[in-house]
Amino acid sequence: MKLAEYSIDALEQLHGQVQAEYLRLRERTLSINMARGVPSSEQLDLSNALLELSLAGDYLAEDGTDCRNYMGQQGLPEARRLFAPLLGLPAEQTVVSGNSSLALMYDCLAFAMHNGFPESSMPWQQEPQTVAFLCPVPGYDRHFTLCESFGVRMIPVPLLDDGPDMDVVRRLVSEDSTIRGMWCVPKYSNPTGTVYSDEVIEALASMQTAALDFRLFWDDAYTLHHLTSDAIEISNIYQACVRHGHPDRALVFGSTSKMTFAGAGLALFGSSKANVEWWLSHASIRSVGPDKLNQLRHVRYLKDLDGLKSLMDGHRKLLAPRFSAVLHQLDSHLRPFGFASWSEPKGGYFISLNILPGTARHAVALARAVGVNLTSAGSCYPHGHDPLDQHLRIAPSSPGLSDLEAAAQAICTCVLLAACERLISK
Ligand code: PMP
Repeated sequence: MKLAEYSIDALEQLHGQVQAEYLRLRERTLSINMARGVPSSEQLDLSNALLELSLAGDYLAEDGTDCRNYMGQQGLPEARRLFAPLLGLPAEQTVVSGNSSLALMYDCLAFAMHNGFPESSMPWQQEPQTVAFLCPVPGYDRHFTLCESFGVRMIPVPLLDDGPDMDVVRRLVSEDSTIRGMWCVPKYSNPTGTVYSDEVIEALASMQTAALDFRLFWDDAYTLHHLTSDAIEISNIYQACVRHGHPDRALVFGSTSKMTFAGAGLALFGSSKANVEWWLSHASIRSVGPDKLNQLRHVRYLKDLDGLKSLMDGHRKLLAPRFSAVLHQLDSHLRPFGFASWSEPKGGYFISLNILPGTARHAVALARAVGVNLTSAGSCYPHGHDPLDQHLRIAPSSPGLSDLEAAAQAICTCVLLAACERLISK
């Protein structure tokens, strides 16, 4: 029977049972972290060859660059050639730099605030009205924190099954010239697993914007991170923007954080020639050049796109059973009550769980009290504010399988307990 159909007596009886289950959980000493999308140590082990690969005596890149030295701001040619297809840009318009794509996004926003883009009439921070970004929700919390730290106003936009609600997006960007950017995680979105449809990508590339220097911050973090044998491909945003006369619109980001080592991989950026030149001119003020030895190691280890894809297949084999374990628990323990819904992603790192409105914060607190650490409720919304207080983000990647099953069961108990308490108190 669905929870909504329970009489008050039946609800109280269920509450008693769930509370007893919760008290049993309190007696166990679980300590399971599912707060962030961190690769497991088995996943990291897949790339241990990188640690063994010695560059001693062989540290020259193909163009003769001594990788131990300064310079090479745009990244090694062979590294750019290897990773350019991930971004869908030519190697000449690809940058390989640093170890964190989030840092590249931060830099792009910082350069825009401080200097503006080539066609901006002034640095964004000098605009008389605060600049704004569209934020599809639920979305990636660190995008929102980044905006917050620069004082960028955030405008939430609903994320539908095939991408952001384009009726809302089109209307807002055409009317409001303070809207200068938009966050997009186009494939296996964090946290919903959403894949943008060709129509949505076409609409984002073609839409008319009131701001002349509008940018899509296209964070393709999960482009090769399939969880099924269906290796989904999406349209090329850069080519679509060029076709519609907006060649400078998309700033495309990616990284090997969840391919090789999360803390010691390579970050990727690609865009129009003008945007890459713009980036290089500002980046060269900030740094004398990236770590090219790590780039060389990555190229020698991965070799080519096929090498990368076979590594990703190794990740899929480790991740897919973890996702299945969580989904199975949700199916067994929550489905019958009919009040919760969740994503069944075909890739990426997260499961989105929508529970009874008004209970997400409480459920997260209940889970924390029994040793299951979830992402704070609300964090997938600007300023941490989920207006319905109903969304949870589950990150199944790092715990082992038996811990995951225990954690997922505990989450179901907490979600059900929070729902019973809410309904009884009404
Ligand atoms: N973008 C998205 C959508 C992510 O989910 C993450 C990691 N959770 C990142 C960027 C961070 O990437 P990086 O390690 O390259 O900074």
